[in-house]
Amino acid sequence: MTENEAIDALVIGAGPAGLMAAEVLAKGGRKVVICDAKPSAARKFLMAGKSGLNLMNAAPPDTQISQYGDAGAWLAPILGDFGPDQIRFWANGLGADLFTGSSGRVFPRVMKASPLLRAWLARLDDAGVTLRRGWRWQGGAFEFATPHGERCLRPRVCVLALGGASWARLGSDGAWTAELAAHDVPITPFQPANMGFVVDWSAHMRAHFGAPVKGVQLRAGEHSVRAEFVISARGVEGGGIYTLSRPLRDGAALVLDLLPDRTVPDIAARLAAQPPKLSTANRLRKALGLSGVRLALVHEMARPLPTDTTELAQCLKALPIPLQGPRPLDEAISTAGGIMRAALTDGLELRNWPGVYAAGEMLDWEAPTGGYLLTACLATGHWAGKHAAQQG
Ligand SMILES: Cc1cc2nc3c(=O)[nH]c(=O)nc-3n(C[C@H](O)[C@H](O)[C@H](O)COP(=O)(O)OP(=O)(O)OC[C@H]3O[C@@H](n4cnc5c(N)ncnc54)[C@H](O)[C@@H]3O)c2cc1C
Repeated sequence: MTENEAIDALVIGAGPAGLMAAEVLAKGGRKVVICDAKPSAARKFLMAGKSGLNLMNAAPPDTQISQYGDAGAWLAPILGDFGPDQIRFWANGLGADLFTGSSGRVFPRVMKASPLLRAWLARLDDAGVTLRRGWRWQGGAFEFATPHGERCLRPRVCVLALGGASWARLGSDGAWTAELAAHDVPITPFQPANMGFVVDWSAHMRAHFGAPVKGVQLRAGEHSVRAEFVISARGVEGGGIYTLSRPLRDGAALVLDLLPDRTVPDIAARLAAQPPKLSTANRLRKALGLSGVRLALVHEMARPLPTDTTELAQCLKALPIPLQGPRPLDEAISTAGGIMRAALTDGLELRNWPGVYAAGEMLDWEAPTGGYLLTACLATGHWAGKHAAQQG
C-alpha cells in the first residue's frame, strides 16, 4: 500500500470536464494526475459520439445562455471565457474539422468522438498528465480503490469532475453525492433531463414501435417545438420529447399538432369536401395525407372520433398524449441537480472544502440537447482548471 502519495494536482473523472480541467492545469504549469474509476477514459463522451458528437451550438450567445434557465446567470461568464468560439478553436487544434447542421448543431465532420479523444489524450500525455485508469475515489481526502489495492493521494489541489447520475455503466453513477454530503456540500437531488416518458399504449400501437413521428409540432404548456420523436414499446422518446422534457417533467401535458401547417377551418373544409360514404380513416388519409403512425395516434388517443368536421379538425390540432411519468434516471441523456451554485465560489471551488473544485455535469445546471451539455462541461472544466491552477 502506498501511504499518502503526495502529488501536485489531482483531477478525479476523465470525462470531458475532467480532461479539460487537466489540460488547463497542465498549461498552468501544474503536474497533473487524473484518476478514473473505469478502465478507459471518457466513455460517455464516446457514447455521445455514436450519435455524431454534437459538440456545441452555433446559436447567438444570448440564445445559448437562455438554454440553461436560471443557471444561465452564473454560467454566462464561464461560457464567455470558454464558449463555442473557443471550443471550435480547441477542437480544430486537435484535428477535428467541424460543420454546422440543422438547428445550429455543430459536429465533427467524421461524426464520432474517438479521433478527437485519441488526439486529446495524446496531447495530455505530451503535457506530462498521467491518467490512472481503474482508480475509484471512495471518499475522504483522497482514498481510492485501485487495481493494486487501496491507495491514498495527497494533492495540493483537486478538481472533481465525476459526472451526473445517468448511464451508470459508463461511469457516472452519482455515488459521489454521499461523499460530498459528508463534507457538508449542499446538493440538489438528481432528476432525469433529456429523457423519454412512459405511455401506456394499447396493443394497437405495437405495429408502430420504433416508428418516427415526423412533421408534427409538440406542445408542453407554453413551450412548443417542431421536431421528430419516436414511439417505443415503453412510451415516447427522441429529440422533440427531450427538448420539452423539462416542462413535461414539471407536470405540463404533452399535446400534438399533427398538421402544424394547416388551420382548423382549412382542415375542416378539406374533410367536409370528401364523399360522406368514406370511412373517417379514409377521409383523414385522402383529405389530409394522414396515415401510418400519425393516423394510429389519432385512433389511439381520440376514439371515438368526432363526426363533426370542425371538432375532428380541432382534435388533430391538439391531440393529447397522456404521459405516465419520465423514464428512469439511469436512461436519461443527462441529469438535472447536483452541487448547488451556493456551495461554490465564483472560481468553482467548494466553499466547505478549500482546495477542491468541481466541474461538469455534477454541478446543478441543466440544458436541452443541441450541444449545450458538452459546451457547459468543457467550459466549467476550463474555468475550474484555470482557477485551481492558481492554488498554492
Ligand atoms: C447517449 C448519450 C448521448 C449524448 N450526446 C450528447 C451530445 O451529442 N452532445 C452533448 O452536448 N451532450 C451529449 N450527451 C451528454 C454528455 O455526454 C455529458 O453531459 C458529458 O459527458 C458529461 O461530462 P462530465 O465530464 O461532466 O461527466 P462524464 O462524461 O459522465 O464523466 C465522469 C467521469 O467520472 C468518472 N467517475 C465517476 N465516479 C467516479 C469515482 N468515484 N472515482 C473515479 N472516477 C469516477 C466516470 O467513470 C467518468 O469517466 C450525451 C449523453 C448520452 C448518455
